[in-house]
Amino acid sequence: MQATEDLVRTVVQEVLAHMRNRAPANGKARAWGVFTDVSAAVAGAAESQREFEGRGLEDRRKAVACIRKICTNQAEELGRAELEETKIGRLAHKIEKLQVIADRIPGVEWLRTYAFSGENGVSLEEYAPFGVIGVITPVTHSLPTLACNAINMIAAGNALVCNPHPSGAKVACRGVRLFNQAIYEAIGLDNLITIIESPTLESAQAIFDHREVKLLCVTGGPAVGRAALRSPKRAIVAGPGNPPVVVDETADLDNAARSIVEGGAYDNNLLCIGEKEVFAVAAIFDELMEAMTRYKAVRLDAKQIAALTKAAFAKDDKGHQIVNKELLGQDAAVLAKAAGVTVPASTELLFGETDESHPFVDIEQMMPFVPFVRTPDVDTAIALAKKYEHGFKHTAVIHSRNVDTITRMGREMDTSLYIQNGPSTAGLGSGGEGYLSFSIATPTGEGVTTPLTFTRQRRSTTVKSMRVL
Ligand code: NAD
Repeated sequence: MQATEDLVRTVVQEVLAHMRNRAPANGKARAWGVFTDVSAAVAGAAESQREFEGRGLEDRRKAVACIRKICTNQAEELGRAELEETKIGRLAHKIEKLQVIADRIPGVEWLRTYAFSGENGVSLEEYAPFGVIGVITPVTHSLPTLACNAINMIAAGNALVCNPHPSGAKVACRGVRLFNQAIYEAIGLDNLITIIESPTLESAQAIFDHREVKLLCVTGGPAVGRAALRSPKRAIVAGPGNPPVVVDETADLDNAARSIVEGGAYDNNLLCIGEKEVFAVAAIFDELMEAMTRYKAVRLDAKQIAALTKAAFAKDDKGHQIVNKELLGQDAAVLAKAAGVTVPASTELLFGETDESHPFVDIEQMMPFVPFVRTPDVDTAIALAKKYEHGFKHTAVIHSRNVDTITRMGREMDTSLYIQNGPSTAGLGSGGEGYLSFSIATPTGEGVTTPLTFTRQRRSTTVKSMRVL
């Protein structure tokens, strides 16, 4: 009997999905979330969200499952498309960043009701959606950030409108089309995720200013963070970092070297959490440098570092040093060429000794070259780590077996992520405990974002009843 009912339900759902899938009455093809203008995108998302808010949690689970499934099944082709469009990073990691979305990004299960029960009755604290959320995504992980934000936000009952980075917009739009088509098949709603096809700074501003957009979530560098914080609405800002690594004389140097290569080389150092500069004490400095070469890292000498620096940085019109985008996220072998040396194509990372005032230390450069600075003692190393993290409060790493040192650095740095004795990626659940997000809200303090980040807390109180004890 149950089997027959299930069969009938499935057939009815398929027929309805087929009917809905036909072009609308006005004859126009469905946009599947991709819009040329902000007002239409926000209107589409708002209409969809109003309907979605009335649905049960099961529909949220189904919508989230659609995104996870596409990221898993089409990781290879979407990862390749992202690399071809953005031209930065590494194919294997573009694919992996989509695959991990399947099980490491938290969903509906994160929304647990908090309850109080006593002689005065019962109160429930629950997590309600905001409505439509404005989203800005970076070029470093265009589709992974969008998919991750969409899972978190939809799990919490919201819809979103995204202004992607212009250099990663095509793959983001392709993902949005696929997600909306699958969600439509599953629950009959289109436009839970909308996106601007040709994004500009003006379309970003229009999203910031739109009165139907209730909350912002921006992931990117300092300029977009400042722009979002100037908006009168609440902004969750996943801002820049410049993660330092401290290595002291008690560290397991082999593990330290392996970890620095693993985290610093990931996607050619495009991760905001990736190891960007190392401060190592003099007592173990040479041994650590030697250990690096065991993990497909190649050491550059002073002349080669000078040549690479000349190629990697330029001056803007105000005379400030800026990163040469041509080398951003390129393979170590490409950087080596700019340094005047040929290395095997399989080289993971370049590294070399610099002084602390070097631009590779000071600037968040997102290239697979990591500068190592020799320090007289661990306190100097921690002080320099703090100085060059620039107060972003993003990520810091230490390799040490001294519990007091580990504790002191954790307190000093005050960062959103603090990793001890592993690669930075362990801080997002890859080889370390915990879940993943591609948006780590640093200046605004929400940390590694989850569905709860995108909710309003509401309390419901029943006086003198419902406590059945
Ligand atoms: P970016 O700042 O150049 O661009 C990010 C996004 O902001 C893009 O969509 C861009 O079009 C938009 N944007 C830039 N200036 C803007 C403005 N004034 N108004 C409105 N929109 C604006 O950064 P990117 O190169 O794409 O990404 C790398 C940066 O993002 C790094 O600084 C990295 O640390 C940071 N990042 C942080 C996290 C995190 O979770 N905290 C995650 C990924 C990347």
